[in-house]
Amino acid sequence: MDVIVLGGGLMGTASAYFLARRGARVTLIERNRIGTGATVASFGNIRRTGRHLPQLPLAHRSLRLWGEAEKMLGRDVEFRATGHIRLIFDEGSLADMRAYAEAARPWGLELQELEPREIRARFPGLGPEAIAASFSPHDGSGNPRLIAPAFVDAARRLGAEIIEQAQVEKVEQTGSGFLIATSKGSFGAACLLNAAGAWGARIAALFGEHVPLEARGPQMGVTEPLPHRVLPVVGIWTRDKDYGAYLRQVERGNIVFGGAAERVAANLDPGHAVADPMRLPVQLRAVARLLPAIANVAVIRTWSGCEGYVRDMLPVIGRSATTPGLFHAFGFSGHGFQLGPGVGEAMAELITTGRSETPLEAFAIDRFN
Ligand SMILES: Cc1cc2nc3c(=O)[nH]c(=O)nc-3n(C[C@H](O)[C@H](O)[C@H](O)COP(=O)(O)OP(=O)(O)OC[C@H]3O[C@@H](n4cnc5c(N)ncnc54)[C@H](O)[C@@H]3O)c2cc1C
Repeated sequence: MDVIVLGGGLMGTASAYFLARRGARVTLIERNRIGTGATVASFGNIRRTGRHLPQLPLAHRSLRLWGEAEKMLGRDVEFRATGHIRLIFDEGSLADMRAYAEAARPWGLELQELEPREIRARFPGLGPEAIAASFSPHDGSGNPRLIAPAFVDAARRLGAEIIEQAQVEKVEQTGSGFLIATSKGSFGAACLLNAAGAWGARIAALFGEHVPLEARGPQMGVTEPLPHRVLPVVGIWTRDKDYGAYLRQVERGNIVFGGAAERVAANLDPGHAVADPMRLPVQLRAVARLLPAIANVAVIRTWSGCEGYVRDMLPVIGRSATTPGLFHAFGFSGHGFQLGPGVGEAMAELITTGRSETPLEAFAIDRFN
């Protein structure tokens, strides 16, 4: 079977790898460099807590693959199952956390509830005013710079053809499949996977499928390196978006943070999202509630990335509703990093066998009709 994958972010590269592993003849076409879209900008959170419940089977599948990534790809992509703690500062948020934990249990996610005493003993320095926390011990983080190149190199070793920096001039259906005309030549295949991230709705529209998607850029920052003390990924349960921050400390010592600041609007052309320094003070106030020691630390870099947010904040994953042989995996709405390996494996399975063992109905493209 021949498959063209359009887009070389985490979704496209993971799909190319799993397709090649299943014996498909794969050509991946990326208009820039591999992994330089939303994927490289990611915070790197490999988190299941708080996910839309029907997404949990895919998230569990993906977490298993993150755990196997080093062996599977032959390279350390810095996946660390450090655990994910979410601090709670008010009774309303505690009720929200308990309701979510109860609802998520039948979906296979077990959250521990921590009391203030346990938070202080296990995670000194975090949220001194917290009244409780949830803890998910098997979640963690990975390195957003490493994962797409690792998947693409592994796919290449299995025979996939990787075309980078190719301007895509035409995408069309032919009698026998699809033809993609690019600045680096024309490519044909029986199947086409649209993994074009924030640009995916444009590709879908070429086939008469309309997805309400907006491109926006979450605001991220990183501090100077400090001794490595904060082990888990840290977040918050809150109804107040001005406090919805998160952070993690990488093993080299820098603290990466995000959230709490409104996402900037991004233009798909040229597709760069720029961090707004005016939003940094609000963000740092929220981060300091989680980790007061950050008040004395220098922020050395801020950034953003162009991500596709679908109206219902869920991705589009599955087969096209209009065009046989066309498949979609785009619009990951700010939470695709965790899902990437699972999406790649599920898409490869769907494309090569006609079905996926993980339910994908909740993400069907025709849900907006
Ligand atoms: C700042 C930031 C922080 C984030 N933090 C997290 C997090 O902590 N945890 C989490 O789970 N998720 C997070 N996310 C979301 C996550 O990074 C994305 O959902 C995920 O990386 C999307 O991968 P993708 O492959 O769909 O998109 P991308 O990585 O954007 O890849 C799409 C690729 O398609 C290419 N392309 C577009 N159009 C065409 C075309 N016509 N032809 C060829 N190529 C094309 C683009 O150049 C791009 O490289 C974050 C996102 C951002 C921006």
